[in-house]
Order: sequence, then structure tokens, then C-alpha cells
Amino acid sequence: MYKTVLVPIDMAHLAEGKANVTLAASYGAQGAKVILLNVVEDIPNWAAIDLPAGLLEKSVESIRAQLQEIAKASGSKMDVDVRTGHSYNTILEVAEKSKADLIIIASHRPGLQDYFLGSTAAKVVRHANCSVLVVR
Ligand code: ADP
Repeated sequence: MYKTVLVPIDMAHLAEGKANVTLAASYGAQGAKVILLNVVEDIPNWAAIDLPAGLLEKSVESIRAQLQEIAKASGSKMDVDVRTGHSYNTILEVAEKSKADLIIIASHRPGLQDYFLGSTAAKVVRHANCSVLVVR
């Protein structure tokens, strides 16, 4: 059983994310901390200049609200973390800082079954210092 379980969720593929949240509840020990994490990819400055002011902040708030709903629906107490940055670097950084002992991640986006591992999942598996459950 694990004490701190990190569940990175891609908001474009919520069904897989929700399934992993259910798994997290059963892999965590009694009183385990479960963290739902989404990483909003940084928009390069040259592209951001044409976007309405505050768009990134609004996206972060909207994603936070969606993750809070998922946490609430799980019936267990879960933490929600939304960050901007590169997905795999940020997932690894949050895993280190929170001392996660398990990361639960989907293997790839739906429909890409021919690929063994997606790009984010592959980097997390290769570089994480804790156990990683890859869900196919
Ligand atoms: P693909 O390359 O097929 O899109 P990925 O490796 O990027 O596959 O995605 C697999 C899993 O990695 C996702 O289901 C999710 O668990 C995690 N993931 C990917 N992108 C993000 C993100 N921006 N924030 C949080 N988790 C992510």
C-alpha cells in the first residue's frame, strides 16, 4: 500500500483520468494522500502575445474546478494541483516534492494502442524515482 499517490490527468482524455482516480483510492493505504495533477503546457511568448489577457489563469481555474469535481465524486479526500510548464518535467517535480511513492499514469492517449507508451508516460517511467503504475 502506498502513502502518497500522484495521478497526472490529461484533461483532453478525462475518462482515463477518472479511471485512474478510482485506482488511486484502492492503491493508497488508509489515510493516504492522493494528488490529482494537471499540467497546462506553457504558451511561448511569441504565441501568447495574440491571446486575450488572463486566458491562461482562467484555464487554470477552470481545470482546478473540474479536478475538484472529480475528487469530490470519488468520495475520498484528494488534493488538486494545477501547474503550468512541461508535462513530464512537472509531473516528476511534483512527485519529488510531494514524496510520492506511486504515480498512476495512462499509457497513451486513447486510440494509439499501437504505441507501447506515449511520450509523457515514457519519460515518467524512465525518470521517476518511485513506482509507476502504467494503465493500459
Ligand atoms: P500521448 O503521447 O499518446 O498523448 P501521453 O504519454 O502524453 O500520451 O499521455 C499519457 C498519460 O500521461 C495521460 O493519460 C496522463 O496520465 C499523463 N499526461 C499527459 N499529459 C499530461 C498533462 N498535461 N498533465 C497531466 N498529465 C498528463
